[in-house]
Amino acid sequence: MSAARIVVVGTGYVGLTTGACLASLGHRVTCVDVDESKVARLAAGRVDIMEPGLAELVARGLTSGGLSFVVGAREAVRDADGVFLCVPTPMGAGGAADLRAVEQVVGEIADVLPSGCALITKSTVPVGTARRIQELTGRPDLAVVSNPEFLREGTAVSDFLGPDRIVVGSDTPGAADWVANLYEGLHAPAVVTDAASAELVKYAANCFLAMKLSFVNSIAELCERLGADIEPVTRGMGYDRRIGRSFLKPGPGWGGSCLPKDTSALLNIAESVRFDFDLLSAAVEQNIAQRDRVIAKIAGAVGGSLAGARIGLLGLAFKAGTNDLRDSPALSIASVLCAHGAEVTAFDPAVGGELPGMLVVDNAYQVAKGADAVVVLTEWPEFTRLDWTYMAELMHGDAVVDSRNLLEPRTVLNAGLSWQGIGRPRAT
Ligand code: NAD
Repeated sequence: MSAARIVVVGTGYVGLTTGACLASLGHRVTCVDVDESKVARLAAGRVDIMEPGLAELVARGLTSGGLSFVVGAREAVRDADGVFLCVPTPMGAGGAADLRAVEQVVGEIADVLPSGCALITKSTVPVGTARRIQELTGRPDLAVVSNPEFLREGTAVSDFLGPDRIVVGSDTPGAADWVANLYEGLHAPAVVTDAASAELVKYAANCFLAMKLSFVNSIAELCERLGADIEPVTRGMGYDRRIGRSFLKPGPGWGGSCLPKDTSALLNIAESVRFDFDLLSAAVEQNIAQRDRVIAKIAGAVGGSLAGARIGLLGLAFKAGTNDLRDSPALSIASVLCAHGAEVTAFDPAVGGELPGMLVVDNAYQVAKGADAVVVLTEWPEFTRLDWTYMAELMHGDAVVDSRNLLEPRTVLNAGLSWQGIGRPRAT
């Protein structure tokens, strides 16, 4: 395919990655955002989000002239072949996806888009949104295409450039193929389909992953009650190719900017067609219970009452490799601990600044100072390299609660501390 003129609206994790990667594939890309200071920083080559390889791709695009950043979608789209919508679709009232940003952008640009232009949703949007966008534009000469994104934060660039699959759907003949061809050179299988099916793929995939995690967290709970160990159990499960090894690790509950809002949105979608998606509701309920179980473990580790307990947290981001705090289970646990009167100190290698109710410090040893319990909440590999003997010297109590099963229990025990994970035998 020859180079296309692409506009990407929204320069967050998805939009900036999309823009920089499409530019690297040879397209001429203009990225648009409403945040003027962000646009100015990006135009100067400054990338705020923590994504390996992204700053380099942005720099390369800026130097070659294939990538630019502007404020104001209306001017930018006038000669576009395709416009990617990468704006937020957070959880709105009643749990449905809030489409206001999508609708606002469509309203802003609909009348100036060139005839034949493809309006492409990369934002995660409910089934039926493509049809709704087509109606909103009042322009049958535009092609509305759903092209959901599956990148993971922390590996956004490598996921985008090496995807498991590309999903594209449209009800306009030829439009989905045109968008699929923008990715020519990536050698990924393409699922080219209608708009509704493409929109549903994204929710189905994310909700399946959430259910897998809730399932494993439930098996971990069974392990604790039955005296089994989740580690060999999941290893034994993961060798089965029908199951696979990924997303089989128990933890403090799933979170992040996608799974909570996408499970909620799919439940809302199911409700709209009077379908009781009990399986998914159970996964969401299990996830709340999982967080509470971790809190109960922490309370137990400090003698039953959190009031006045000094608790050191290792990790705040929703997973390792990112500084994203949106819907982080670690933050949620921290806020419950604070609400119960615990004195909370926290360290995350990628998160600084101030957070309500707790003291955020700039190294892991500060977290241990005077702590009754130290709790691992994010699976940063650097926590495995801490000097646990020194941690023990700094601590007041001896409890380590490892909600990610990250640490080697023996190392913690040898330092004179106790260790308890999730679904694993307690080591004292
Ligand atoms: P984000 O919050 O990181 O970025 C969104 C950007 O859009 C921000 O820079 C914001 O300033 C900008 N924006 C908001 N309203 C705008 C408007 N009216 N015009 C122009 N710019 C506007 O969001 P994100 O994490 O990149 O997610 C975007 C979409 O992609 C969501 O629907 C999300 O569900 C989906 N998604 C996210 C991920 C992920 O891992 N973050 C993965 C796949 C899909």
